[in-house]
Amino acid sequence: MKQFKRIKGTQDILPPESRQWAALENLIHEIMERYNFHEIRTPVFEQTELFARGIGQLTDIVSKEMYSFQDRGKKQITLKPEMTAPVMRAFIENKMYAQQPIHKLYYIASLFRQEKPQAGRLRQFHQFGAETIGSADPAADIEMIDLAVAIYKKTGLKDLQLSINSVGDPLCRNRFRKILQDYIRPNLNLYCEDCKKRFETNPMRILDCKNESCIKLNEQAPKLTDYLCDGCAEHYKQLKSGLDNLGIAYRENPYLVRGLDYYTRTVFEITSGALGAQNAVCGGGRYDLLAEELGGMPTPATGFAAGMERLLLVLQSQQIDMAETTGLDVFIIGMENDARPIIDKTLLKLRNAGYRCDQDLLKRSIKAQMREANRQAARYVLIIGENELNSGKFAVKDMSNGIQTEIKFEDIENFLEQQKLI
Ligand code: ATP
Ligand code: MG
Repeated sequence: MKQFKRIKGTQDILPPESRQWAALENLIHEIMERYNFHEIRTPVFEQTELFARGIGQLTDIVSKEMYSFQDRGKKQITLKPEMTAPVMRAFIENKMYAQQPIHKLYYIASLFRQEKPQAGRLRQFHQFGAETIGSADPAADIEMIDLAVAIYKKTGLKDLQLSINSVGDPLCRNRFRKILQDYIRPNLNLYCEDCKKRFETNPMRILDCKNESCIKLNEQAPKLTDYLCDGCAEHYKQLKSGLDNLGIAYRENPYLVRGLDYYTRTVFEITSGALGAQNAVCGGGRYDLLAEELGGMPTPATGFAAGMERLLLVLQSQQIDMAETTGLDVFIIGMENDARPIIDKTLLKLRNAGYRCDQDLLKRSIKAQMREANRQAARYVLIIGENELNSGKFAVKDMSNGIQTEIKFEDIENFLEQQKLI
């Protein structure tokens, strides 16, 4: 018979690794709550045009990475490759602006991009992220970076680098564009094919090219931060002094552009030395023009998105276990069929009381069940054989010291309570 394989670039997350995921998700929910961000969930697919418009035709995502298809109603559909455009779509469509002037939203989502799969680069991957919609204040950018850093800190991660830059607004960008093109033009034929294409349409992206020879050619390139308009320069200055005030270390990278077109002013990236080529764990910035681009009222906004697979890879490389595995509280061993009702009722009672309990479901020998209890690192084993059935008492073995006692069936909960396991 044919056996099936998962689609290339996707992952099965199996136990015990799934516990790391759950622990990470819990931590994200906890910190987001502290910062007063509220969860938003959007559909897994959207109209293709939302991304084409929201992210920009010339970005890697839209030009070559999207999973797009036509559905049976001849609609163009795309599996979401990022969350900012869907969040903004939801904000506009649900008239969230009418409820209150500012929204602080966060998400944990599965995303899809058809890229070349490699370590830390998948076709279905996960991001957590946050968006503050409605504030133009640099304080919102500072809070955003502080939030991302707080989450990483809470995971116990070490050695992360924060890079920041300002990409200005359309006004200063337009001015800068000519200056940059003048710098590139004499050597344009030496740049990679992608950069040649970007030269007319989006020359700023040339600064972001990862191609070795392009990086070399860009070494003396002019910096947009030297050409910011007064408003953008002031915003950038306040961002930096805000980060200084919080003691958040950063590096200014004048060539940090970020892939998506909708960014204005603040952009930032967090990288980890523990990862190879795919070293970015988090990227974000301000996107004051997106709401209008998607048919809404002009609404300033800022946010970040962080890759979860890469974060878990770094945690693993630093031997950080977020979901310390502790064994079961109780394992019940029984042989006689007559013991079944007592086993079931005891399990139900103890589970309701909050204990982690399990039993044998394979009708194994007592010896094999004992081995299973050991494998599950159970603290207490309750044994119920023929003698115990007759006497109405469990043989209770404390696996930490091997001491065995007898406890009446109905007293087991009291007994465990005295042991203060939970
Ligand atoms: P990269 O330069 O690595 O391609 P990007 O600029 O495309 O990153 P964003 O779209 O900003 O990334 O997404 C934010 C974060 O999501 C990245 O920093 C990374 O941690 C994660 N990420 C992006 N693409 C993938 C992927 N294909 N697989 C796993 N994680 C990803
Ligand atoms: Mg990418």
